[in-house]
Amino acid sequence: MRVAVGLVLCLLLSGLPVASAQSDSNEDTAWPGDPIDSHVHMTWAALTLEVNEWADNNPDIVDLVSVGESELGKSLWVVRLSDWSVETKANGNAKEIVYIDGGHHGNEYLGTSLAWLTAKWYIDGWAEGKQEVIDVLQNTEVHVLIMLNPDGNDIDTRWNINQVDLNRNYDHYWNTCPTTQPGSSAFSESETAANSAYMNTEVPDADLYVTMHTGVWIMLYPWGKWPEQPADWELYHQIREDVNNDISSIPIQNANQGLYPNCGTSRDYGYGVMGYPTFTFETDDEQFVPGSVENLNERLAEELDVMKYLISNVWYWRARLDVQSLEISDDEITIDVSNYGQASTSNVSLRYVDVNGEQLWESPFFAVNATNSSMIALDGKNLSMTDDGSWELYYQVRVIESSRWVTEPINASVPVIIGSEEDNFLIGYGLFNPVTMIAGFAAIAALLQREESDEE
Ligand SMILES: [Zn+2]
Repeated sequence: MRVAVGLVLCLLLSGLPVASAQSDSNEDTAWPGDPIDSHVHMTWAALTLEVNEWADNNPDIVDLVSVGESELGKSLWVVRLSDWSVETKANGNAKEIVYIDGGHHGNEYLGTSLAWLTAKWYIDGWAEGKQEVIDVLQNTEVHVLIMLNPDGNDIDTRWNINQVDLNRNYDHYWNTCPTTQPGSSAFSESETAANSAYMNTEVPDADLYVTMHTGVWIMLYPWGKWPEQPADWELYHQIREDVNNDISSIPIQNANQGLYPNCGTSRDYGYGVMGYPTFTFETDDEQFVPGSVENLNERLAEELDVMKYLISNVWYWRARLDVQSLEISDDEITIDVSNYGQASTSNVSLRYVDVNGEQLWESPFFAVNATNSSMIALDGKNLSMTDDGSWELYYQVRVIESSRWVTEPINASVPVIIGSEEDNFLIGYGLFNPVTMIAGFAAIAALLQREESDEE
């Protein structure tokens, strides 16, 4: 990964024109992109030209928006990638949402580059008809704010133009750690204010947020504020296992322990306030060599593979509950619920609603672990069912308090078994007694027949 630096320096020392470094390249290994390949360090102006070109040339998948301006008035571009010819997935469900930003620190060029490269890879892959890309863009929106700190970027400095560390300026335990230059208050800077506004208004339902930096080779998950593991540690540990087993040996750690205590970061804000699963992707343990040109595809190939994995599998980065069956007795309701997601949920409630969506009954909250199937017995004493009522689950998609709530109807095809003690059909433990089961099935058959005849 780092051999490239030497090569580049040799090229520079030998006085070759910069363009020759990529002139003879094939599509896969070239420094992709124009016009930035003739810039030693992507300036905001070069980025502006390029993202507008992306949008002009690929209107089917690139939606370019400016989400605000830097302190010096430079547009903060977000490249929004998806198959915009379809509003939802083929099954009618909402697309998953991924949010990526780069360039909080203006002198961490390889972090900005990974954000740029990720967007570019999906744009190129769509043009080439890559199946992986088609699958992602038909089912996902990928929002990439490539350069959050254009003022700092253009003068190659960590800070923004007010000498503030933007990644200490977020409203999550702002200025509560030993830190430098966090700004005069949370969101005092136009760059961080714009970023948080975008999170809150455009991508509040994202199931992944990756913020890209460089300086160390590590992926950091929350918290920076505390050494303790976050509430959704299982999700982070599962991702670490997958990445380390199959893609890269990059260390993946709690930020506080893996790097150092830090507060008011976009990562902790994204998780603690927005409820996203979040990573700080520190892309390299060496900075980009000033004045050099490198093939980013080579330098960041492994890191891009990690990003592709995180994006392709975004569906799994939350709890995904699916009710297999529902059994109702006089005073108990038992549901068999599977969680296909990699995140646990500690707040789930089963609801019975009428045809207008009016809630008629609600169970107490219960938990379902990640990648797990559970039989849950609930007190059903106050349930009274109607002819046209239906069932739904109301739950938080992750354990962290700030994670979003969803209401998902239980498919009408899920078997609802109705028994009662008068019918000698005991729901619950009795279900596993073979005699009870036979009696139970007979009772159900009788009940179903009765219900059918009632309807006629
Ligand atoms: Zn940084």
